[in-house]
Amino acid sequence: MNGARILIVEDDAELRSVLVRSLVEESFTVEGAANGAELLARVDIFAPDVLIVDIGLPDADGRDLCQALRVRGLTAPVIFLTARDSLAERLSGFDAGGDDYITKPFALAELVARLHVALRRAGRDAAVEGRGLRVDPIRHTVACGTGERRLTPTEFRLLARLLAEPGDVVRRRELIRVGWSAGAAVHENTLDAYIARLRRKLRELPGAPSVDTVHGVGYRVG
Ligand code: CA
Repeated sequence: MNGARILIVEDDAELRSVLVRSLVEESFTVEGAANGAELLARVDIFAPDVLIVDIGLPDADGRDLCQALRVRGLTAPVIFLTARDSLAERLSGFDAGGDDYITKPFALAELVARLHVALRRAGRDAAVEGRGLRVDPIRHTVACGTGERRLTPTEFRLLARLLAEPGDVVRRRELIRVGWSAGAAVHENTLDAYIARLRRKLRELPGAPSVDTVHGVGYRVG
């Protein structure tokens, strides 16, 4: 779960900075926004894995923001911060597409526990499976049986692409396209170096398939 990206929208500057600092110490990648407009401006660029949204914002209701983001295609889990523990507010939060809520004041440990639950659930929903492997896009891990190894984001994207068509050759050009952002300088042997690292990790997982080279064409998961 380390490195998961969290976007916090909270207008209370003190609470926001405490949250950002504390969650960075928990090894999350964190960004804070002070209001709804900032959230909308940042969300596509930052691409959060989970959002923490205060319901009472100066320029918007957090629930309306959540609903708007869902319409725009946001799938990341949303945890609402609410000042009142009223059943009506909790229910309307779920109606708006929220996944969880937490009532102020709260202990940081509780928020962190909720974040992990939300990320695990999101990871399960979006996991890629094939050839006995399970690849988790939130935690960036690959699991086989009871073994698990952590992947870098690029290793994850390469393996997920290979698993999308198990047994079929995926062309080098296609792997470079999914593995790196457009415009990145990717040398011919960069892909091979990443595949070599991926192979080492898979070899450490008993029962995992191999990544085969098809010379001059690409790679495939055997
Ligand atoms: Ca507020």
